[in-house]
Amino acid sequence: MSFSDLGLNPKLLQAIEEVGYTTPTPIQEQAIPYVLMGRDVLGCAQTGTGKTASFTLPMIEMLSSGRARARMPRSLILTPTRELAAQISENFENYGKHSKLSKALLIGGSSFADQIKLLERGVDVLIATPGRLLDLFERGKIMLVDTKLLVIDEADRMLDMGFIPDVEKIVSLLPPLRQTLFFSATMAPEIKKLSDKFLSNPKEISVSKPASTAVTVEQKIIKINGDSKDKRDALRKLMRDEGDILSGILFCNRKKDVDILNKSLNVHGFSAAALHGDMAQSSRTETLELFRDGKVKLLVCSDVAARGLDIPAVSHVFNFDVPINAEDYVHRIGRTGRAGRAGKAFTLAMMEDYKSLRNVINMIGSDVPVESLEGFESWTDEEAEANKGRRRKRPARSDSAKPSGRERPARRPARAASSEKPAVEPEKAEIALVETTTTERPERKTSAAADRRTPAASRRRAKPSATIGEREPSSEPSNPTSSFGDHTPAFILREAKVA
Ligand code: AMP
Repeated sequence: MSFSDLGLNPKLLQAIEEVGYTTPTPIQEQAIPYVLMGRDVLGCAQTGTGKTASFTLPMIEMLSSGRARARMPRSLILTPTRELAAQISENFENYGKHSKLSKALLIGGSSFADQIKLLERGVDVLIATPGRLLDLFERGKIMLVDTKLLVIDEADRMLDMGFIPDVEKIVSLLPPLRQTLFFSATMAPEIKKLSDKFLSNPKEISVSKPASTAVTVEQKIIKINGDSKDKRDALRKLMRDEGDILSGILFCNRKKDVDILNKSLNVHGFSAAALHGDMAQSSRTETLELFRDGKVKLLVCSDVAARGLDIPAVSHVFNFDVPINAEDYVHRIGRTGRAGRAGKAFTLAMMEDYKSLRNVINMIGSDVPVESLEGFESWTDEEAEANKGRRRKRPARSDSAKPSGRERPARRPARAASSEKPAVEPEKAEIALVETTTTERPERKTSAAADRRTPAASRRRAKPSATIGEREPSSEPSNPTSSFGDHTPAFILREAKVA
């Protein structure tokens, strides 16, 4: 099948040709005709399948006739993160370049005044994160009564991030007679329930089994026994062994660890930059540009920041931490192997990650190889089971029974990896890195939105949840000392004089 068989207009076909697509992907082939028919669509598709074009292309086709009125957008795309919103907006620019459609991107961290100006001119396509959209609605800058086409993208992530009440509120502001396209990488029962609420008689399309990973990604799990310094050593060895890392994304569960790993890689001569939800939007955008342009080879980030990133050249994904939420694994490794390209995904697993690792393996299937790394201590499931519930003590640096990666003489491998640049005394600088020894919350997936929150959403977030914001055991083993240990200071033994 070709794009011209899908019933798209010549201007759109020209833009598609200029972008370089020759054949529609399965989700495009299946979804586009139904969207053009005006049907609601429930799409279960992971990132990298061409899902974005499956709704942007028919939207451009449908919106090419008619005009938008001031403050009354004709269509709305809701996405969980700013990065994803910006990416969808870029898609509209590419595919709609011969179609003269007006669009506005309403995301947190950008100027209200510019967004209001655009809304006042009238927009055909509004791409928004829920918080900022509600903010503008409450300020009376936007009306949704004319929005007859709604897209909810990455619904599973909306749920994870606690955005569903905001989404429900937004949907209630739209006309009941509308077309709704609802996409999610996974179809958990809550997602299905939501889709039943928002959609009417939808065409269900599933392009791969829920929560499956792309076949073009070669995956490996590497077990490491040691502390976080060993883990960083192991990561560097892994990257050097790989040699030809064109560009790689490294995931940490915590923002603090994103910063530590980024600093560590830089002192060891790698070309790396950090990206997480606490950074100002301007520096997030700048870092992404540098990475996209190949000026930075490695992007160290959290799940929030990396959600939906579409950078076709990403050759490797490294999970520095096993994701706490197993479904994040699918999203993380979906950053590589995009649109049929080959990609590699490595996951470093420590003994304390046993439970999370088991969840990931249960989800993706047990045929992913689990290996050890030459020169580094590994661990077994039996050891992890025996260790369960016990807090691991940080191994004494000088007398650990088996030499760990850290204790071996520092390797000085040839700087063959394209991601490396000359280092300046990395071993010394590494020692100076701030080591985290306390328990830290994994990055809240909500932080993508410095976007406004509803009080209900804030209340909900304050409660611990099973999947997000959960306090996890520290990845750094602690070494608790109670009282004074074996040593009793002299002042305690001194006789007390009572008047
Ligand atoms: P998505 O799943 O929407 O994030 O898209 C993943 C990647 O596939 C993006 O880099 C798109 O530019 C690319 N893509 C989308 N549709 C096609 C197509 N028909 N042929 C080739 N690449 C495509």
